[in-house]
Amino acid sequence: MGPKPGVLMLKMMMPYLRDSLESKFTLYPLWEQSDKEGYLAQNAQSIRGLVTWTGSTVDAELINKLPKLEIVSAFSVGVDKVDLRKCKERGIAVTNTPDVLTDDCADLAIALLLSSMRQVCAADRYVRKGCWPKLGQYPLTYKMSGKRLGIVGLGRIGMAVAKRAEAFSCKISYFARSEKSGVPYKFYDTVLELANNSDMLVITCALTKETTHIVGRKVLDALGPEGFLVNIARGPVVDEQELVKALIEGRLGGAGLDVFEKEPQVPQELWNMDNVVLLPHVGSGTWDTRRAMADLAVSNLEAHFAGKPLLTPCN
Ligand code: NAP
Repeated sequence: MGPKPGVLMLKMMMPYLRDSLESKFTLYPLWEQSDKEGYLAQNAQSIRGLVTWTGSTVDAELINKLPKLEIVSAFSVGVDKVDLRKCKERGIAVTNTPDVLTDDCADLAIALLLSSMRQVCAADRYVRKGCWPKLGQYPLTYKMSGKRLGIVGLGRIGMAVAKRAEAFSCKISYFARSEKSGVPYKFYDTVLELANNSDMLVITCALTKETTHIVGRKVLDALGPEGFLVNIARGPVVDEQELVKALIEGRLGGAGLDVFEKEPQVPQELWNMDNVVLLPHVGSGTWDTRRAMADLAVSNLEAHFAGKPLLTPCN
């Protein structure tokens, strides 16, 4: 048996993942190095695999520093921060972790709808701050059940959101690049048309050049002052400046956001809004799911180095 393949891990994503990688490969933990450039140069000939996540960028500059790189295993389903074109050019395989995180993300989308529309977090703060005895009844909020739900990107997570929303008797419609066959929901061929016919918009599409800022002022105005936006996909799908303006001016009813344009920076204007729920990108953030994601990320590397078919290739 030859030496274990060298795998570069960009950040400490999860100790369980690190331990698993360390038991199977020669691990190169980049985040622990003070001189990252020197470390990469020194180990470039040994690094054949790379594990990344949503908080790191795998661009041409990094890839060029790794001449022996054969596979990028993403600890996420979104690979918008991986230069897929460059990987293709170099014949580098790219894998991600779909399916295992679908339930968690869909659960959280529903939680964001409910918590922003019913102001669950703000009402909780109202109790904790002792406002109830002093100020009396909490202001009225918005009902979710039975409302019109528009889904932007009816993929794995989008479908799982739709399934859950059916239990809330929502009227579901969607936007995607093309109409899906065998789907019982109404299709709109623009996000604007979808928003015109929705009370709630949930974003579950991939971030690409085409979907960047696909939700801007017009779409937000179409949702309107009693409309709600939930983003569980990627921050840049929404024009965040326009979103902040719409919320400040009361042109949008509220929002539930797990993702932002410049994470971990969240626009401060939103911090005091009771109709807005802000989460620190935790869509897949449960022990159960993150372990399953780690197992899948490692299994993809194992398959690659054993010359077997990849479990979840995405390029
Ligand atoms: P998926 O099954 O690949 O679904 C992505 C959907 O995006 C597809 O159905 C696709 O629809 C749509 N899409 C792509 N390009 C589009 C375009 N130009 N216009 C309209 N729709 C477009 O992926 P998934 O597993 O559901 O995950 C969806 C996204 O959620 C991921 O890409 C990731 O960024 C995000 N995510 C976030 C978290 C979190 O922690 N918040 C966790 C997991 C995933 P068509 O192909 O039919 O057009």
